[in-house]
Amino acid sequence: MQAEVISIGDELTSGQRLDTNTQWLSQQLGDLGIPTIRHTTVGDDLSGNVEALRLAAQRADVVVCTGGLGPTQDDLTRQAIADAFGRPLALDEASLAHIRELFARRKREMPERNRTQAMIPAGSQVIPNPHGSAPGIDLAIETESLASRIFALPGVPAEMKQMWHETLVQRLEKALSRKQGRLRYHAIKLFGIGESDVEVKLPHLIDRQRVPTVGITVSRATITLRIAARAHGDEEFQKLISPTIAEIEEAVGELIFGQGQDELEHAVLRHLEQRGFTLATVEVGAGSWVCDWMQKCVEMNERTIAPGPYVGGIAFPTPELARRWLSGSSAPPTASLESDPLWSTLARQACDRFQADVGLALGVYPSVGQMEQASQPFDLVFAMAAGEHLHVEQRSMGGHPDVLGPRIAKTGLDIVRKRLKGWLA
Ligand code: ATP
Repeated sequence: MQAEVISIGDELTSGQRLDTNTQWLSQQLGDLGIPTIRHTTVGDDLSGNVEALRLAAQRADVVVCTGGLGPTQDDLTRQAIADAFGRPLALDEASLAHIRELFARRKREMPERNRTQAMIPAGSQVIPNPHGSAPGIDLAIETESLASRIFALPGVPAEMKQMWHETLVQRLEKALSRKQGRLRYHAIKLFGIGESDVEVKLPHLIDRQRVPTVGITVSRATITLRIAARAHGDEEFQKLISPTIAEIEEAVGELIFGQGQDELEHAVLRHLEQRGFTLATVEVGAGSWVCDWMQKCVEMNERTIAPGPYVGGIAFPTPELARRWLSGSSAPPTASLESDPLWSTLARQACDRFQADVGLALGVYPSVGQMEQASQPFDLVFAMAAGEHLHVEQRSMGGHPDVLGPRIAKTGLDIVRKRLKGWLA
């Protein structure tokens, strides 16, 4: 099943108003497992609307229109559907009664022109609009050459959304073959690989005809693989998706840190908790992302009285200031970045000063403040200390400052996640 969304109104084609309905509807259709293959925007012009509707019905199994259901002369959607599919308009008494009642509740007489809002193309079902005067239209077209379901909703976003949730979702779910069951999802989260590298490693994964389907999204360097399939129950769903999960694990297993709503900080906290260890951090020149994320996890757990595994963190704008914190002097670095003892010392000091089992220090030259002007990749150092163990590694990273800060923080967390397994097993 595929969909097309049509938005109707001069205010949209003229650029006066941004068409947010189409974006929202396409997302909702996608969530039901119905991909949207085309967006069309037309002004308030009858022949343009008729043409758009006919073309859409030829291309898509489901057509969702918004706008043009008002009572005025430029509201043409009802007439356009009637003309496009040869269904004369007929009065729907129940809709008229609803409109009259709305006016009565507002202690106003219903203007005669509002009667037109209760006219719907013959053979359509009404889509109730509890808060507005424009009922929606649901018309199934089934001819020898055409099989499509046309839905028309008002343009007012709040009314449109309410009608979607209260009526369309159920009707569409019913229309999707009952045999296929409900659409279910499983999300796998990865870090340490680019979106295009996932496609190279798993070339068949995002084939749209594949069952189950897999969607790739990336948010601040975290990759989500969203596996979707229709199934009647959890057991059937697990059976359907397990070969895909195995394929993903085989190709990128070491990069997987979690599933569902997991973020890297949750994965790290889970590993620490399982082993009964605590973590402290020092961030230099790269904001305080790790500390902020960890604190949010702690807040989410506010009902637990015992402190969580994250025991504290500190952030410095520059390596010089971090050096001063260690020694009380602001002497410039004397060694190269790699051999500079600053980073290992900071990781160890994180353990000592915060009484933590694990210390993570991460740093960047120059600092995030300067990142905005720089086009070159940055030199970064990550140091992790735990008891006798010490790991220091240098990396180089580029990218937009909005993404770079979180990416540096996530790289630090990922190092902790991977090392924890080996060191503290
Ligand atoms: P009404 O009964 O209020 O006239 P209608 O179905 O005729 O409803 P329109 O008149 O086209 O809808 O639009 C009503 C309001 O909804 C306007 O403020 C319009 O800007 C807004 N609107 C219409 N279409 C969209 C859209 N695609 N995205 C966002 N807002 C929209």
